[in-house]
Formats: sequence, structure tokens, C-alpha cells
Amino acid sequence: MDCLFCKIAAGEIPATPALETDEFLAFHDIDAQAPLHVLLIPRRHVVNLADEAADASLLGDLLETARAVARKLNLEERGYRVVLNVGGDGGQTVPHLHAHVLGGRALHWPPG
Ligand code: 5GP
Ligand code: ZN
Repeated sequence: MDCLFCKIAAGEIPATPALETDEFLAFHDIDAQAPLHVLLIPRRHVVNLADEAADASLLGDLLETARAVARKLNLEERGYRVVLNVGGDGGQTVPHLHAHVLGGRALHWPPG
């Protein structure tokens, strides 16, 4: 499948890892929008939150792993943001489910 994040999960395209589990891979965003900006993806291909394959089990594990990423990056005390962009208006540019974990500065709201 011609999917950028599947290729990163397969090690075919390099990325800087932040955390790895059997089910998920977290790596640093190539165009960081904060001092710490990590993308968390399931290793298997799921398009986005609207994909029926994004079931309760996967989403629960995704959030638990996002929490582990934030803990590993020492973001828990200051706080951080977890974002899922979904589809065109949601600003999703890579059609493989990913959570952005952002931190290291005060983040603005609304996000724009
Ligand atoms: P989206 O806009 O789909 O929510 O987020 C996609 C993210 O993937 C963007 O923040 C973008 O900077 C990041 N990205 C795109 N291509 C690459 C890449 O080749 N490597 C890494 N590490 N991040 C990428
Ligand atoms: Zn994929």
C-alpha cells in the first residue's frame, strides 16, 4: 500500500522514534509545531477516526499510548495537547490514523 506512515512503520522511510510498542509507533514530526511534537500511529493501516476499524479497543489503546508518550517526554507536569485531525476540513494530510502529541510551550486556543 502506498501509505507514508505504513512505510515509516515498516522502517522503509526513516523517522526519529519516541516510543514503540507491539501495536503502536511514535516518532517526531518532520515539521514540528511545538518544541515537542510527536506523531503516534497504529502499526496497522487505519485511515482516521471515522474509519470503522478505529474501534473502542484501538482508540483506548491509542490514548493510553499517547499518555505514555507524554510521560516519556516529561510533559505531564506542564501539560500537553493530543490532536486527531480527521479528513479535509479537519486538516488531515496523511490518511493513516495518527495522534499529534504537542507540548513544551503554552498552546493557543482556538487552534485555527
Ligand atoms: P495531519 O496534517 O495529517 O494531521 O498530520 C500529518 C503530519 O505528518 C504533519 O504534521 C507533517 O508534518 C507530518 N509528516 C509528513 N510527512 C512526514 C514524514 O515524512 N516524516 C515525519 N516524521 N513526519 C511527517
Ligand atoms: Zn498506512
